[in-house]
Amino acid sequence: MFLRLPFDRINWTTSSFLIGTFVLTITAVPLYLWKFGIDWFQLGLFCALLLASGLSITLGYHRLFSHLAFRAKWPVRLFVVLFGASAFENSVLMWASEHRRHHKHVDQDEDPYDISKGFFHAHIGWLLFKLLPQPPFDNVNDLKKDPLVAWQHRHVHLLAVLISFVLPTALGAIWDGWAGALGGFLIAGVARIVVLQHCTFFINSACHTIGRQPYSTRCSARDSTLLALLTFGEGYHNYHHEFQHDYRNGVRPWHWDPTKWTIWTLSKLGLTGSLRRVPSGTIAAARASHRDA
Ligand SMILES: [Zn+2]
Ligand SMILES: [Zn+2]
Repeated sequence: MFLRLPFDRINWTTSSFLIGTFVLTITAVPLYLWKFGIDWFQLGLFCALLLASGLSITLGYHRLFSHLAFRAKWPVRLFVVLFGASAFENSVLMWASEHRRHHKHVDQDEDPYDISKGFFHAHIGWLLFKLLPQPPFDNVNDLKKDPLVAWQHRHVHLLAVLISFVLPTALGAIWDGWAGALGGFLIAGVARIVVLQHCTFFINSACHTIGRQPYSTRCSARDSTLLALLTFGEGYHNYHHEFQHDYRNGVRPWHWDPTKWTIWTLSKLGLTGSLRRVPSGTIAAARASHRDA
């Protein structure tokens, strides 16, 4: 199996980043914690940046830009393009293009994170190895017209470095000198990126492997409460593949979906609007017809 990996197709820049940050997280981060411990400031910074970058991916990159599940005013859009960049998951334009291709060709060869090529491929292999040439961005013409999205696409790597590494390092330095700076870089910077990225990757791998299929078995997508807990509510993936334009992934009121709650709360503040919901009769009919089948 190991020898069958396509080493001639390695995506060197992405692989070095993903492996380098992972190795630092399991070596330098525990060493730092052993030597300096952790204080409430470092923990708070880690949680704040994890929340900001995580919600920017689920609320912004995914539900707002990829699926147009609601509208958002400029402060929300600006926030999600800035902190979404800090997740090191590339630009809105590239992310949405790949994600729309995933929905259109799910479980087929054109699906960028096709689970039928294996769990490892769907999780991270598709990023480490470029099996196919980069397809053109021909499915995001609506987003190309958005000046904020176009601006973020041009500067995404600079924004990522500034917000993900320079910002926590500088805040750490203000808090506690060089030791605080190192902690900010390692914990709220490197470790937070690794945690967030693997949680995102689980949507493509585990959410197509583990869980129930209450709505359809047309594709491999599954609903999992456990994965919803790790992904800001994105774990209800069987529902999402069936009704991708709904701003909710966890459609029941008790489903753990902080992304849905944030979008709804922002709508009450006038910052989001036109929230798209599939009528409850349609949802019930989908469940019933699937159960009968
Ligand atoms: Zn999927
Ligand atoms: Zn989606």
